Amino acid sequence: MTIRKDKIAFFEKSLFDFFRKAGREHLPWRKKKITAYEVWVAEVMLQQTQVSRVIGYYERFLKQFPIVQKLARVSWEEFLPYYEGLGYYTRGRNMLETAKKVVKDYGGKFPRDKKLLETLPGVGPYTAAAIMSFAYGDDHLAWDTNLRRVIGRFFFGTKNFASVIPAYEPESRSRVPPKVGRQSGMTLKKLEEQFSLPAKTLNAALMDFGSALCVGRPKCEACALRNRCVYYREKGRQETVSSQQSTRLPARQAKNKGEDKKQDWKNAQVYVFLHENHRKYFSSSKRQFRPFVLPSGYNTRSGIKKYFQEKYQLTLSVRPPYKKESIKGKQIFFVNAQILLGEPVFRVFPKKPGKEYNNGY
Ligand code: SF4
Repeated sequence: MTIRKDKIAFFEKSLFDFFRKAGREHLPWRKKKITAYEVWVAEVMLQQTQVSRVIGYYERFLKQFPIVQKLARVSWEEFLPYYEGLGYYTRGRNMLETAKKVVKDYGGKFPRDKKLLETLPGVGPYTAAAIMSFAYGDDHLAWDTNLRRVIGRFFFGTKNFASVIPAYEPESRSRVPPKVGRQSGMTLKKLEEQFSLPAKTLNAALMDFGSALCVGRPKCEACALRNRCVYYREKGRQETVSSQQSTRLPARQAKNKGEDKKQDWKNAQVYVFLHENHRKYFSSSKRQFRPFVLPSGYNTRSGIKKYFQEKYQLTLSVRPPYKKESIKGKQIFFVNAQILLGEPVFRVFPKKPGKEYNNGY
């Protein structure tokens, strides 16, 4: 399967027009000249954390650690105040390790070699491609979800984009280049070669476009690409019609919605699943696995942190609830948390318990 040149040209032109008008040039990591270190810091922080939250962290972090040499010298305890709140403390540990490795093995300069970058702790194909394109201006597309979704929809239509343009293998695992489209025999590399915009521009434009217009529920009616978008042709019009129809909920659904709203989530109870890298789970009971059930009044992320700090002298990283459920009339938040600082004295279980524990209270 090949893609027509005029279609690629239309795609790039429309995308570039969007980028000139609505690109997120205000982001602190979108400056013209940026170092590999600065790109790397931004990309690590942006993994699974919202852009708006990262901005403040990024600026504070770079003020404290403007160069990799400075970061490489600090201990975990000195590093933590500038990272705490971003969650995923394994990422933080990897940051410190990578900084030390860059200083020790590469004289303080991130290597201009994608494969070498991928050997650094926590740096996978996506982050390496972002460093290569944004800092060094080399032609590597950073295939994050936004890129895959936009390109997948525009060129390949309504098929699930994950099956059309597979993700890179998870970071720090195998690097087998994925195929684009089951029948096409086209690799990501071949697809990349068909574009003529510099990868740096294409990456930034696609990231912005994918988070502004071509989002989970795409805003096709406002999109200048729609005339030639396969997704829009296959589904766009139907979606517009069905979204208009769905603005009025059937009576039964509306009633349920009202009932849900009435549920008092403000007073929900919290079950905390305390773990270390999802490999060790700490139990609140010595006999069998039990999550930590917090007294009412501790059901916000800051409340959970406060509770563990005061009761066990542990500093936690707390994720947003992964599940909310009503059990026997009680509203429950299920939350994962990791220990950042402090010595836990709990019994350890090797893996997350099954569903039965969710309903055991
Ligand atoms: S028309 Fe819709 S699906 Fe196609 S690129 Fe635009 S927003 Fe995405």
